[in-house]
Amino acid sequence: MKRTLPLVAALCAASLLFAAPMEGLASSSHTQHNAQKSAKEDKPEAEADPLAVRRGLYDRLSTVTGIPWYWMAAIDQYERSMSKARPKARPLLGKNISVFIDQERWAGPLNPDPEDSSPASIQWFNGIGRDGDGNGSADRSSDIDLLYSLVSRVSAYGTSKEDLAIGLWEFYHNSRSVQRIQQFANIYEKFGKLDLFQHAFPVPIGNNYAYRSTWGTGRSWGGRRTHEGTDIFAHHGLPVRSTCYGIIEIKGWNPYGGWRVGIRDLNNYYHYYAHLSGYEKNVEIGSIVEPGQVIGYVGSSGYGKPGTQGKFPPHLHYGVYSDRGLIEWSFDPFPMLKRWEAEERRRISKKVSR
Ligand SMILES: [Zn+2]
Repeated sequence: MKRTLPLVAALCAASLLFAAPMEGLASSSHTQHNAQKSAKEDKPEAEADPLAVRRGLYDRLSTVTGIPWYWMAAIDQYERSMSKARPKARPLLGKNISVFIDQERWAGPLNPDPEDSSPASIQWFNGIGRDGDGNGSADRSSDIDLLYSLVSRVSAYGTSKEDLAIGLWEFYHNSRSVQRIQQFANIYEKFGKLDLFQHAFPVPIGNNYAYRSTWGTGRSWGGRRTHEGTDIFAHHGLPVRSTCYGIIEIKGWNPYGGWRVGIRDLNNYYHYYAHLSGYEKNVEIGSIVEPGQVIGYVGSSGYGKPGTQGKFPPHLHYGVYSDRGLIEWSFDPFPMLKRWEAEERRRISKKVSR
């Protein structure tokens, strides 16, 4: 029971803070203030920038709980990626926050009222639902209540990195979930913002590469496998660049992919770059990268023991996998590559014409 005390204290603090008028919060949350202001003055609230609204919610809860905003952002974004991967199992509950907590977990497993919204009786039945906005009700469709409830549960062991890792494990019972949220938190902390979804083409834009859709075709080495990705043929040594904001998850030799790199992005996609001839300096597991940043060089490594090269023409094999919680699915990156290439061409021509 000792652990519930700080939560109750935080809950009271939350109620007080969230009941305070907006102006009172402005000094602690610049972004929120601006978002609210522009929502009021310039356009109806429904059109407010969703990222600014989210950041405002994270900042407010951060003030109350002492947990840095980027952890809230990471938890919310991980939940968003799970809901996008399995929309039927995880219908959207809130408006701007993507936390999903099922009814039984919210109200407590032995609660006779599965739709209970009374914070006191939910707590009595050990449910997760909490009243984050101080309106006296733990409402499963309220953004603040949803995020506050999850964050309260996850911080039950404390708010340090190590404590949060334990809390995340206790909540998800899935080491991948813990790893993802830690990765996301590192990315958000590094860039200090939520708007991290611009992309780049994996090699420098120009005429010195060629690719076409080769999804699902047969492969020659390693038994019967279908081709999970797009091959971009280019000369040996052409720079290979990150297509996204992300974190290096894997680096090293793989018998199929040769020297390869795996990058995790905030959509919970795993970007796989294979057959490299070498790596860029400072590319290590845990390094944070941005779109267009060089991570390695085109080569022909793979199809054998470490160091094997030249069994096929040099090319970059680029694959993308979507994390669905316990398993990952590859999907055809070709349409995205076409789009990113066109977007980058437009950005370059704008720069030139300026
Ligand atoms: Zn390939």
